[in-house]
Amino acid sequence: MSELDELYQEIILDHNKNPRNFHKMEDANHMADGYNPLCGDKVTVYLHLDGDVVSDISFDGKGCAISTASASLMTETIKGKTLDEVKTMFESFHDLVTGRKDPMKCEVCVGKLKVLAGVRQFPMRVKCATLCWHTLKAAIESNEDEFVTTE
Ligand code: ZN
Repeated sequence: MSELDELYQEIILDHNKNPRNFHKMEDANHMADGYNPLCGDKVTVYLHLDGDVVSDISFDGKGCAISTASASLMTETIKGKTLDEVKTMFESFHDLVTGRKDPMKCEVCVGKLKVLAGVRQFPMRVKCATLCWHTLKAAIESNEDEFVTTE
């Protein structure tokens, strides 16, 4: 393992141990539930949208280290972003973890999310990393106060 891989590993372990924005949001106006049957990961994404800006985001649930770290990194990355920016990031992130993009050339589009690029070597893990993003998408598309479940 290279030094860089080890560093990325540390970031993932840190976000798994101390997930950011890990709580239920009482005044969320969008939310969705996600489940990854391949691994058993469960995540709920809470959103507070002001117009087309993600003014607040949080999550809770129970999953493996990759799914928890990915959700934690996602909430940190998209807070304050517009829905257009979120959509672009989702596409870039998806390309990154499925191996369509070189993570080192992806600094601008996904920022710190590139620490998860290693999952591309483990097809079973790709769903763990993308679960929170699919759930986020479902939450955005949900009607206000509607609870959506996605698989
Ligand atoms: Zn998982």
